[in-house]
Amino acid sequence: MRIEHLEIFRVGMSLHTPFEASSHGAKELNHLIFRAEANGLVGWGECCAPNDPYYMGETWGTCWHILRDFLVPMVVGKDFADGDAFNALMARVKGNNFAKAGLEMVALDLLSQEAGQPLARYIGGTLKKIASGVSLGMQRDKGKLLDIVGRYVDEGYRRVKLKIMPGFDFEPLSWVRERWPDLPIMADANSAYTLADAAHLKKFDGLDLMMIEQPLAWNDIVEHAALQKMIATPVCLDESIRDAADAARAVSEKACGTINIKAPRVGGLIEAKRIQEVMREAQLPVWCGGMHEYGIGRAAAVALCSLPGFTLPGDISGSDKYFNEDIVDPPIVAVRGEITVPDTPGLGWQPDEERIRARIRDQMAFGTAT
Ligand code: MG
Repeated sequence: MRIEHLEIFRVGMSLHTPFEASSHGAKELNHLIFRAEANGLVGWGECCAPNDPYYMGETWGTCWHILRDFLVPMVVGKDFADGDAFNALMARVKGNNFAKAGLEMVALDLLSQEAGQPLARYIGGTLKKIASGVSLGMQRDKGKLLDIVGRYVDEGYRRVKLKIMPGFDFEPLSWVRERWPDLPIMADANSAYTLADAAHLKKFDGLDLMMIEQPLAWNDIVEHAALQKMIATPVCLDESIRDAADAARAVSEKACGTINIKAPRVGGLIEAKRIQEVMREAQLPVWCGGMHEYGIGRAAAVALCSLPGFTLPGDISGSDKYFNEDIVDPPIVAVRGEITVPDTPGLGWQPDEERIRARIRDQMAFGTAT
């Protein structure tokens, strides 16, 4: 396989509901969409880096630079037989995982099409349907929060995740717990606390949460291990896990009970799968978080969720949770809290080129058009 021509579009989309987490918020998104021609096939990918460096450090702007000046010249016109070989072409570049993950998605879409397999099967996925959860930005009004949660519960979503921060944590979680005594609920702090808050976080044990996600520093493992010893609620690591080596460290330190695996954060689906294997060996469950992916990135996330170790419902909801109109047609749909894994070759959802081109804010092209 060889990518002869690659276009990268910065595509603007608006969330129909603005999103607020402790570390970052969003309304307007600028994801980079990749369109590649190779061996008579067209492959697609998405880089879903945020606008600002408040989650992991990368932004769409840093990705644009690293792709243009380093990663794309390393891969266009080069032969690769599988995903590992493709990633080896980019190995000299350290970090920059969102940028790498977007390019890897293109390669895996092309390879799975060539193999005549759905992307999910190509990477080893076995599940035919994935359980879908929702992640809710902070909503400070009690009535509104309960209305929003109620709507998703009625739609059949399997669990609800609330973003929290100091001053907006125990109380809203209690509102939801009181209303739905049996609902799987989890909290995501996006690094908003320190170990000095351990006694406060210990109070959450009474709320029967599935987990508390990334309570402490974005790059910490050791203090999370100390916190996990003090609280019964399982700690979930998100930002702290950038690759399988981080996951192995977290397991050996007993820093968490689960990991939220996002392919964009860890450099792509192949590294995401390695993290899942580390956790499976440790007999710990994993699940898949989201980055407000458009339909292309969301399709790749569905493929990731189909791997056998993804036993907890993820953040991968239907397109309508975020967008009035997605860039894949038909959109990704969750029915009674489940998304059906496609059985057609490649990503399984068709990018709508007209919709994509109508939303382009900037673009660049590499290689030779065929
Ligand atoms: Mg998180």
